[in-house]
Order: sequence, then C-alpha cells, then structure tokens
Amino acid sequence: MIRAAVQNPIAGLTLDKRLERNRAQIIYDIKKNIAIGLTQGDSYTTVAKRIAKSVNNDYTKAMLITRTETHRVREQGFEDSGRAAQNDLVGTGYVLSKTWQSMQDSSVRHTGDANHVKMDGVTVLADEDFDLVGGVKAPCPGMSGTPQNDCNCRCYASRDFMSAKEFEKRPEECFRRNIISVKRNRKPRSRNRALFRMWIKQARRKLRMNQGLQV
Ligand SMILES: [Zn+2]
Repeated sequence: MIRAAVQNPIAGLTLDKRLERNRAQIIYDIKKNIAIGLTQGDSYTTVAKRIAKSVNNDYTKAMLITRTETHRVREQGFEDSGRAAQNDLVGTGYVLSKTWQSMQDSSVRHTGDANHVKMDGVTVLADEDFDLVGGVKAPCPGMSGTPQNDCNCRCYASRDFMSAKEFEKRPEECFRRNIISVKRNRKPRSRNRALFRMWIKQARRKLRMNQGLQV
C-alpha cells in the first residue's frame, strides 16, 4: 500500500505557473502526505489540510487530490493482491473474479467520455483490465490514468472466488454486491492481507473437497 503511494503517478495534476516551477517538490509532498495519511488512518479532511500548504492553500484542490490519490492507492493495493491470488489459482480450475462496483447513486459519472454507470457490475478476471469508454483500459477504478475517469471516482472493485465454469457463465447481475466486497475506509493494509489469505484458503479448501479429502 505504501509502495503504491510512493509510486503513484498523480495523474492530471494541474498547477498554476508559479507552482509549476516547484512541481517535483509539490508531488513529493503530496505523496508523502498521502502515505502518512494512509498509515495513520487519517481522515480526508486532515490529509487535505496538510496538502493544502503545498498547493497555495487551495483547499478545494487539496481535497480533490486527497480523494483521488487515496482512492487510487487503496484500489491499487487490493488490485496487487488480487492479481497475485489469481496467479496462484492458474491451473486449479478456480478463479478470482473482479467486478466494478459503483456507488449506484445519481452522482455516478455517466458522460460521453467517462461512464461508470455502465461499468457497474462488469466482471473480469482479477488479473485482467476493465474496458472503459473510448478505448481506455484500467486495472481497477481510479487507475485508468485519465482524469475524467479517475478524479473524485468513488467506485471500487470487489473480488469473488468461483470455479472457472461459473466464471464462464458470468451473468453480470450475480456479481453485483459480492460477498467479498471491499469496504472502503477500513484499515487497508491488514484487510488486504486478510483478503488474500482468505481467497487462498477458500481455493485450497475447494480443491481438497474435490479430491475427496477431509476438510
Ligand atoms: Zn467511478
């Protein structure tokens, strides 16, 4: 999670001319504050207040950055462990799927160049990318690299364990609001690891059951 925060590209950060000269330093400060915020479990308000100092006390901009970047870093953490779990399952007959979940309210973006209403319920394998409008691809919400999709996005990916056959059928409604839905604003690091362990445990248990061994 912290590695993700440090390597985070901060897409689409626009700065005025005076600030542009200090771009590298500003990005460094933002990354540092996002990482600190995630480690300490600070609220968006607290992190935004710290970041505001770097962007000329523009609190609105600081809040946009905080929301967007914290969201991205969290989603990326889950993405990494999901990909690792799916990798482990190759050849077992089981898969880890990944479903785009929107907040399903009227604020979910649905413009010509970014439509997350349409993405809601779309399911792919945990190591595949989602196809967004206009040929844009994203491993998970917040990571398309395009501001119209990533800025202020509240969507998240949920992951589900199932047999490869079940996955092939893929009726999209079935995947909405999965059992293993990644709730936001929880301690991301530990939850991340716990999820990964749970997926692997489920996989092993199903395998043993298939082989007729005792669970
Ligand atoms: Zn979204």
